[in-house]
Amino acid sequence: MIPLSVPNLAGNEWKYIKECLDTSWVSSVGAFVDGFEKVFAAYVGSKYAVSVVNGTSALHISLQIAGVKADDYVILPNITFIASANSIRYCNANPLLIDVFTDTWQLDVVLLEKFLGEHTYTKDNECFLKENHRRIKAIMPVHVLGNMCEMKKLQEIAQKYHLSVVEDATEALGSYQNDKHAGTFGDFGCFSFNGNKIMTTGGGGMIVTDNETFAKRAKHLTTQAKSDSFEYIHDEIGYNYRMVNLLAAMGVAQLEQMPQFLLRKAQINTFYREQFKDLPISFQENTANTTPNHWLFTICAENQKELIKHLTENQIQVRPFWLPMNLLAMFKDDLYATEDNNSFKVYEKSVSLPCSTGITDVELKKVAQCVRNFYKYWDK
Ligand SMILES: *Cc1c(COP(=O)(O)O)cnc(C)c1O
Repeated sequence: MIPLSVPNLAGNEWKYIKECLDTSWVSSVGAFVDGFEKVFAAYVGSKYAVSVVNGTSALHISLQIAGVKADDYVILPNITFIASANSIRYCNANPLLIDVFTDTWQLDVVLLEKFLGEHTYTKDNECFLKENHRRIKAIMPVHVLGNMCEMKKLQEIAQKYHLSVVEDATEALGSYQNDKHAGTFGDFGCFSFNGNKIMTTGGGGMIVTDNETFAKRAKHLTTQAKSDSFEYIHDEIGYNYRMVNLLAAMGVAQLEQMPQFLLRKAQINTFYREQFKDLPISFQENTANTTPNHWLFTICAENQKELIKHLTENQIQVRPFWLPMNLLAMFKDDLYATEDNNSFKVYEKSVSLPCSTGITDVELKKVAQCVRNFYKYWDK
């Protein structure tokens, strides 16, 4: 079986994790936690980084610090992984779903602007929905598959409507727009080091921000809100969301390899596009001025279901996109702004292909040949 996207542990993982084991610094404090936060902040170009247990907790804490309260709305693209929408519900708020562009598969900022213009009013520097007078507090742009949302436009909208910006950059480590790293545009940027992401700590996440108060508060909330360095005195309801030293050690080792990982992802992307250019397949287009990390190679294909079946039967692991949020039981009653339901059109054709950074050229050729064979047969 050629897997979809699996970890690549070719660097100093063993060495740094062994250091933790040798010194018994395996748990929630240790030099690697601080070290990982430092090198990560430097890598993305933000002032502060706070490590956490996963990307979902990074989103949850960021929304809370941004001031999202019960019954607020948070604007979210309709195509995303469930974790983004769940993090909004953890704050007892609701997602306000916006459709995506058909070419880049990112939040449709033109539609968003139109929606806000028609359906909201502002009062005392806050934005409210006309229909029910509920507050819209934040936008969570998701940089889907490592391509990026149009951040300049999005930030203009956020400013005009007094919305905080929490970037879901969990798929976009190594992606840039106008030479600025994903996750450093908004008030908060959230990253994930889950096993299928471009780099992994097994499980883990990071919050980045340029705001010192936010960073301190993120550390505080993710470490049980302990307010005294010695005594067990806590000043609010906190969370046990901190990353352990063992995993931070792995994070340092993985981050060292980002240049190679990005190079390989770009090669895979170029190879597949060249191989499929004469087939009834379309590709995700880059947002203007964006250099994506090409995290997960995904196509929109005619006869998607049959193609998925064909590849799976040939021991090639593939996946469709996430079911759009508006179709899930938990979010089907939430607001969804759309004109042509592009989310569904992308969803029903989507196929993600194997693209681990450790994939061999032989394996890549096998996948490409298998896709080509499918369409040769299908044409007849
Ligand atoms: C991976 C991912 C997350 C969540 O990250 P975890 O580390 O798995 O909690 C959130 N949003 C998106 C879009 C993701 O792809």
